[in-house]
Amino acid sequence: MIVYEMKLQGTQAQYRRLDEAIRTGRFVRNSIIRAWMDGDVKNRNDAYSYCKVLSDNPEFPWVSRLNSMARQAHAERAWASIERFYRNCRQKVPGKKGFPRFKKSQIRASVEYKTTGWKLSEDRRYLTFSDKFQAGKFKLWGSRDLHFYQLKQIKRVRVIRRHDGYYAQFLIDHTREENKELTGKQTGLDVGLNFFYTDCSGEQIDNPRFLRKDEAKIKKLQRRLSRTQKGSQNRKKAINRLGRAHLKVSRRRNDWVCKLAQHVIQSNDLVAIENLRIKNLVKNHKLAKSINDAAWYKFREWLEYFGRVYGVPVIAVDPAYTSTDCSNCGEKVVKTLSTRTHRCPHCCYRADRDKNAAINILKSALKQLSNTVGQTEINASGEIDLCLKGETQLSKSARRKRKPKQ
Ligand SMILES: [Zn+2]
Repeated sequence: MIVYEMKLQGTQAQYRRLDEAIRTGRFVRNSIIRAWMDGDVKNRNDAYSYCKVLSDNPEFPWVSRLNSMARQAHAERAWASIERFYRNCRQKVPGKKGFPRFKKSQIRASVEYKTTGWKLSEDRRYLTFSDKFQAGKFKLWGSRDLHFYQLKQIKRVRVIRRHDGYYAQFLIDHTREENKELTGKQTGLDVGLNFFYTDCSGEQIDNPRFLRKDEAKIKKLQRRLSRTQKGSQNRKKAINRLGRAHLKVSRRRNDWVCKLAQHVIQSNDLVAIENLRIKNLVKNHKLAKSINDAAWYKFREWLEYFGRVYGVPVIAVDPAYTSTDCSNCGEKVVKTLSTRTHRCPHCCYRADRDKNAAINILKSALKQLSNTVGQTEINASGEIDLCLKGETQLSKSARRKRKPKQ
C-alpha cells in the first residue's frame, strides 16, 4: 500500500462542506463507541449495521448525507480502537490499556472515503466529491503523478484538514519493490541525544542543526500563544501559527530521516535497531528530547518501510544491557551516563560507548534471527495497516523511472 498526498484547492464554501463531512465522520465513530459502551455493538458486523441505524434516524439528518461506504470506513475506525483495547487487555500490556475515547473537535481531522463518493477527472488533476455534502470539484496540487496507477488500485481517499489547508491522500494498492545488490555489510544502530545514531563501525550521524532551530522557534510561538486571551481572535491566529510551525518542523524532519533511512538500507544487508517503546518516548515533556524522539520514531518507520522495499531485514532488539555489556567478551561493565568510553577490565577491549552498544545490538539481532529461522511468522489479524504515513518527496534521481536491465 502506498500513499500519495495532494493539496486540495477550492473555495471557502467548499471547505466548509468538507468540514461538515469531517464532523459527520467523527460523529459516526463516536456514536459507535457510545453504542459499544452501552452494549448495543458487540462485534465488527454490529458496528457496520449500526451505521444504518444512525442514517435512518431522523434526529441525525446529516449522517445520511455522508457517502455510505465512508460511514462504514468510520465504523471500521471505531471498531479498530475497540479491538486495540481488547487486544491490549488480552495480552496484559502493562499500564494503560487504551480504553476507546471520544474524538474531540480539533483542527487536524479527517474523513475517509472508500471507492465511491469521489471521482477523479479524466486528466487526474481534479477530484470531485459526489456525496450529498456536495463539496464539489477541487484542483489537486502535488508532485505525484496518479496516471501511473489504475483507478481500481485506489482503495481509499482520505481528506485531511491541517493547519495550513485541506489535503487528499490516495491509498494505492501497490507493493513497491526495488532491486538491491548485496553489500556484504550488516550494521547495528544505537540512538542517543548526543548523536542521532552511532553504528557498529563507530560512524556517528550528527543531529541535524535544524532540530535546534525549530525547537527555539516553537518555544517562542508557544510563549506568544500563552500570552493571548482565551477566545480572542489573536489566540486563534497564534494557534494557527504554532500549528503551521509544527507542520513545517515535522515535514522537514520527515524529509531528512526518510533520506537517511533509505541510505542506511541501501548500504547494508541487515540492520539491527533498539526496540524502543513509543509509550516511554512520548511521555517525556522536554521539548528537545521529544523532538529527537519523534525523529527517531519516524526514522524507524522509514527503516522498516525501506527494508521491505529493498528486501533488507530490519530487526528490533530488546534495549536492555546493550550499553553495559562488553561487546567483545560479554562481561558486564557498569558505567555511568557520563562515561563516554567503554573500557573492559576483563578483556581490555576499548571502544566508544555508543559503538560498543551498536555492536551489542547487532549481535543480539543475529542471535534473535538464528532462533527464529524456520519459524514462519503469521500476522494474526491478517489485516493491512492503513495507518501508513505518506511517503515524502524523494530526490529527483530517485523518482526517475529506472530502465529495466537487459
Ligand atoms: Zn570485555
